[in-house]
Amino acid sequence: MRDVNKVFSNGTLALKGMSLDVHAGEFISLLGPSGCGKSTALRIIAGLGAPSSGTVAWPSSRINSKGLPEGDVGFVFQEPTLMPWSTVFGNVHLPLKLAGVSKADAADRVMEQLRGVGLADFAHAYPRELSGGMKMRVSIARALVTQPKLLLMDEPFAALDEITRQKLNDDVLALWHRTRVTVIFVTHSVFESAYLSSRIVVMRARPGQVYTDLPISQPEQ
Ligand code: ADP
Repeated sequence: MRDVNKVFSNGTLALKGMSLDVHAGEFISLLGPSGCGKSTALRIIAGLGAPSSGTVAWPSSRINSKGLPEGDVGFVFQEPTLMPWSTVFGNVHLPLKLAGVSKADAADRVMEQLRGVGLADFAHAYPRELSGGMKMRVSIARALVTQPKLLLMDEPFAALDEITRQKLNDDVLALWHRTRVTVIFVTHSVFESAYLSSRIVVMRARPGQVYTDLPISQPEQ
């Protein structure tokens, strides 16, 4: 990203002059307080939102007609966003299905990802039968099933209890060592960023945020 600005239609300045180089195989944490623009930056990197100015360049051979990196990016949201009417297998198959790969042809790849997150035995379960941590594992498997070069994670474990969260952190680390996928991981946890990443990118509160959102009390005379 070079000099990326993002101004939303209501006038909110979410990113100001953000530049970032991401190298293959890095595990980057985007660390900063709520509202500083982490999600906005991640969405722009994913091609889910356009910058107001500045440029984003992907070294991808698979740029689609809109100039976005198709299939090269896996995204894990804070909510697992699984389809409730579909099994675990069906949910992980979805990105391949959208790419035209049948269930039969996708079976090996889907099961490989489910093994990778420890859920091979739950292929036929429905999301409602799973714990929050297990749903998140399905979401990770779904993000990886197209073998993306870049895995983007937006505060993925923020809603989980600390023990589950720590297990998932360990599993994501193991997965990164195993696959060497490039990861950008959004978090507001200093501990999580230090535990996980090979590089921490600190984002500050957007200009003016501290002063306009949190009025500083004046000392009494
Ligand atoms: P973070 O992920 O660091 O919490 P966000 O990227 O979600 O921050 O938001 C950055 C700023 O942009 C916040 O002030 C937020 O309220 C604002 N914002 C985010 N999305 C929108 C939107 N669609 N429209 C207007 N403002 C937005």
